[in-house]
Amino acid sequence: MFTLPQLPYDYTALEPHIDAKTMELHHTKHHQTYVDKLNAALEKAPEWADKSIEVILCNLDKVPEEVRGAVRNHGGGHYNHSLFWESLMAESHNGPTAKLKEQIEKDFGSFEAFVEQFNAAATNQFGSGWAWLVATKEKTLKIIATPNQDNPIMTDMTLNPLLGLDVWEHAYYLKYQNRRPEYITAFWNVINWQKVEERFTTSE
Ligand code: MN
Repeated sequence: MFTLPQLPYDYTALEPHIDAKTMELHHTKHHQTYVDKLNAALEKAPEWADKSIEVILCNLDKVPEEVRGAVRNHGGGHYNHSLFWESLMAESHNGPTAKLKEQIEKDFGSFEAFVEQFNAAATNQFGSGWAWLVATKEKTLKIIATPNQDNPIMTDMTLNPLLGLDVWEHAYYLKYQNRRPEYITAFWNVINWQKVEERFTTSE
């Protein structure tokens, strides 16, 4: 059985960039629902119930067809939100350091150019979805956008998602209404770069 992870900070921690009400609903309602529906789907595919979420999402084609759609949507939702919460922290203002900073400059030209490309991916994702910074198995960096609750490991299990941004309306509508670009700009103030760096350096 999958369970809702605790947030590593209070609902108010990301104010004013991401408001407490949004955080609370997003965590206790949206993420909880993904967990509950994933568990319900896996009751019909018990051979998958003891696998890690990563293993399940990397092998969706082997999950019984009857529950594959539900596992993709709700399992994706669980994985994506778990990664998202851990990627955030109260006002950080620092950027990437060390190896990650170096690789960003190598692959995108500069940190500013990277931010611009990431923002474009997040802004231009039509409808609901996510923007991602991923490391390839060669440890180069790429920006990817995915629809719905899809994520990069579903299509390429060698990719290592370092940072994800939820651009579903439920992630920002209470505070920003239709102004997705304002929410995307605010996101850069609350990134836990130490965590992102850790994901980059601890992968093989
Ligand atoms: Mn969400």
